[in-house]
Amino acid sequence: MTSHPRSPAGTGRAGPAADVGRWFSTATSRSPDGPGPTRGGPRLPGWGPMEGAQYGRRSAPADIDAALGMLRGRPVAVLTGAGMSTGSGLPDYRGRDAVPRSPMTYQEFIGHDLARRRYWARSTVGWEQFRSARPGPAHRLLAALDPAAFPVTAVITQNVDGLHAAAGSAPVIDLHGRLDRVRCQQCEAVSSRAALHQRMLMMNPALAARLPELAAEAAQAPDGDAEVDRTSSFRYPPCPLCGGILKPDVVFFGESARREVVAAAFAALEAAHALLVLGSSITVQSGLRFVRAAGRREMPVVILNDGPTRADPDATVRLHGRLEDVLSSWADAVGATTR
Ligand SMILES: [Zn+2]
Repeated sequence: MTSHPRSPAGTGRAGPAADVGRWFSTATSRSPDGPGPTRGGPRLPGWGPMEGAQYGRRSAPADIDAALGMLRGRPVAVLTGAGMSTGSGLPDYRGRDAVPRSPMTYQEFIGHDLARRRYWARSTVGWEQFRSARPGPAHRLLAALDPAAFPVTAVITQNVDGLHAAAGSAPVIDLHGRLDRVRCQQCEAVSSRAALHQRMLMMNPALAARLPELAAEAAQAPDGDAEVDRTSSFRYPPCPLCGGILKPDVVFFGESARREVVAAAFAALEAAHALLVLGSSITVQSGLRFVRAAGRREMPVVILNDGPTRADPDATVRLHGRLEDVLSSWADAVGATTR
């Protein structure tokens, strides 16, 4: 294995990227020690490293081999989270380097024009970096595992970055949607975020002119760039078909995953003999329910994550370590195709 590229391509900085897009966060809720304001929505835990968490543990090679023995040769459903994409420079809101903040809720986004201006302004600044993220070693290793020895029924991901599909995994079930798509909240029409980005740059020429500068500023200041926070004048378009509210096609806090997507994920679990969880602290119910369902079916559950997970009591085998190290050792054992 080559070294793990923890810094985003081209920046040369150590550690995961600053959350320049703040795709889920508000500018107003920055409480480092507790829930932020959630006007009209559910109370939410703040994001940040988990309290009392131990990071950096490594399982013994014998345990890693034993876990593979439990999985190999039988259909496996894989559930992944943010830890999968930190190697691609995307932030993990609950990892060891996470900046505490509270996410923007669905209710805030839908209920307040000002919240939407803030969301779109900030995520416009972050879009280029998000869009340029590429699959990391963990994505590629998972996609390359020999399907005869390690058949995957589906990669069910809580990530919204599309990097599993870009790495060649199939099928991928995007439990929380995809940030490169936009969905009208009224007519449900789905469109391209890249196209909306161009449209918003045209509607906001002053911000567009300063975009590289603002993006650099935001990347340097993980938790505060007042410039981008002056977003009340940011303009965004309505749905061109019906005039409805456009929203990123991702599941916000306070919102449920789409029913047909959840059904597909459960079908992938039904078709499997084991569940493998990679890089998720499984803090939200939408992921936890798959672990619980696997437990009810008496399926083995293998959890690999750096740091604690909410599903640790449900794990048959709990592995610690870097995803790419463990997947690399499994690829050596079962064989892998080159991608
Ligand atoms: Zn519409």
